[in-house]
Amino acid sequence: MSDIIKLLPDAVANQIAAGEVIQRPASAVKELLENAIDAGADTISLIIKDAGKALIQVVDNGFGMSETDARLSFERHATSKIKSAEDLFNLDTKGFRGEALASIAAIAQVELKTRVEGNDLGTQIIIEGSQVKEQELCSCAKGTSFSIKNLFFNVPARRNFLKSNPVEIKHIIEEFQRVAMVHADISFSMYNNGNEVFNLNKGSFRQRIIGIFGEKTNQKLVPVEENTDIVSIDGFVGKPEFAKKTRGEQYFFVNDRFIKNSYLNHAVNNAFDQLLSKDQHPSYFLKLKIDPVKIDINIHPTKTEIKFEDERSIYAIIRTAVKQALGKHNIAPTLDFEQESTFNVPLMRSTDSIKAPTIKVNKDYNPFETKTVSPGSRTSSDWNKDKKSKENWDSLYSDFEKDTNDILEHQIENEENQQVISPDWNAEETPVYEKADKQTLIQLHTKFILAQLKSGSLIIDQERAHTRILFETYIQNFANGQGVTQQLLFPETIDFTTADAELINELQVEIKQLGFDFEKMGKSSFVVSGVPVELKEQNVKKIIEGLLEQFKMNESELKLKRHENLAISMARSASIKSGKKLSYEEMKVLVDELFSCEMPYSLPNGKPTTITLNLEDLNQQFDY
Ligand code: ADP
Ligand code: MG
Repeated sequence: MSDIIKLLPDAVANQIAAGEVIQRPASAVKELLENAIDAGADTISLIIKDAGKALIQVVDNGFGMSETDARLSFERHATSKIKSAEDLFNLDTKGFRGEALASIAAIAQVELKTRVEGNDLGTQIIIEGSQVKEQELCSCAKGTSFSIKNLFFNVPARRNFLKSNPVEIKHIIEEFQRVAMVHADISFSMYNNGNEVFNLNKGSFRQRIIGIFGEKTNQKLVPVEENTDIVSIDGFVGKPEFAKKTRGEQYFFVNDRFIKNSYLNHAVNNAFDQLLSKDQHPSYFLKLKIDPVKIDINIHPTKTEIKFEDERSIYAIIRTAVKQALGKHNIAPTLDFEQESTFNVPLMRSTDSIKAPTIKVNKDYNPFETKTVSPGSRTSSDWNKDKKSKENWDSLYSDFEKDTNDILEHQIENEENQQVISPDWNAEETPVYEKADKQTLIQLHTKFILAQLKSGSLIIDQERAHTRILFETYIQNFANGQGVTQQLLFPETIDFTTADAELINELQVEIKQLGFDFEKMGKSSFVVSGVPVELKEQNVKKIIEGLLEQFKMNESELKLKRHENLAISMARSASIKSGKKLSYEEMKVLVDELFSCEMPYSLPNGKPTTITLNLEDLNQQFDY
């Protein structure tokens, strides 16, 4: 048999590699922004058209490229950032793989203009699907401008796979925020379809956070500072009263690189323990500095995950630092944040900075091991109890696993949502609900309602029941073209994050059909003057944020129709939650409304809203 193995042409190899590095417009944004930072720029602009599908342009005033470098930059494994394998363990740049530009050029039409200081003329290169179409001298500003047009123009399957514009722009804004937040010494601006989305001046980390999330953030931030041999921490956590129902504002940066790490996330949550209810998530913006030798950022192609050599100590240090910060700011006066006897983490003060660190951290020390506690240090017995239950890693891990299970369960639930299943019930067996009286409606565990049927008992899940009722109402509103609006006595001005404001713009017709009445005011504020009549006096901002959050989740994970998605998202956001105590009248209305629904027995995803306890079965179980 003749030889059959051949080397792939570069263009094909690059296209394959691109699949890994560039998944969507936001990935290209991240690579270009990071290159601009590595080039020493102090002013960087991002220009987006059509959610990055038509254009992604990044302009920087960094050191630019020579003519040869400009051409070489598109070659795979061409990088100026590392020379040998050892350099991998001592990285101080964002990039190092030399794949991003080669990948982008394989799947888009790219125009590069770049000039180094001292040269009169710069270089312009146009490259399409890895083919250089044009290379010439040009006059341009010092620095570099990359324009990426028609991403995935030659990979239709990928292009079709892109999500709707609101979802893609949300990803782009997220990447922009992650990069801009931690580089407060660089000015960043972003434009979307000609509108300014961000204009961030140089300043402190606090000013940058405020620039991104709005003026009101200022009062919410509690500084966190800690300096140990293993890691130094600098940044902020949000005061507990501003905690969110969604995991939005949670940022870890390691050596100025955004990372995700559920284990360290747990450390922050753990420090907030007792201050937040189960469904709240703390905001945090924490910059960690760690000796690059002690981390490995090379395990994920898009580099948001990293490995730490000493993860457990870092966990304990973060947890202690956040606890101390909350305690110091009198947010948790009863919290136990005394120096833990052998695990000594000093606070960093300006005068300390000149001293060589004297604190040695015992790497084998387990801060959660049972230990003697200095007398008088605990003032809250609850805290004491809870702390005990966390005093070993086993129980800590079981909590952690629970968190992960929650996430998994959530994912599974979402996957299940993909097919809209009709519940498996048979009309003949449909239980007959007797009109209720005070004796026959009982709330159980502030979660379920027990109702009596002719043929037994019915247990109703209050949250799901209300979600079903609202879902049908909103679907009806869309069918009629308009929901019923209750005008607010005092219109409310609500500030949203930039990403949410963009989404509201995109969905404004539909949101109004749900029954909201609002007008845009300023860049990301809206004046809400009317709400769907079902909402009554609930917190409007929370409801809208919940609606958007659900919508985004459904949009990126499921393929629901827009109306269905909005109806179920709004229903989920506005429904009565479990944990709410209901009066008899409230229960009665809820149950009556449920049974006038078209499909009272389940949610659109097939999950039951009610279960029945058959009288015969009950009798049998009691051995009658
Ligand atoms: P990496 O960043 O991993 O080195 P890239 O493919 O992103 O790989 O970039 C290749 C090379 O092109 C970089 O190493 C750098 O020398 C050069 N380069 C890319 N973008 C810029 C820029 N904005 N300014 C100056 N040089 C750049
Ligand atoms: Mg790069």
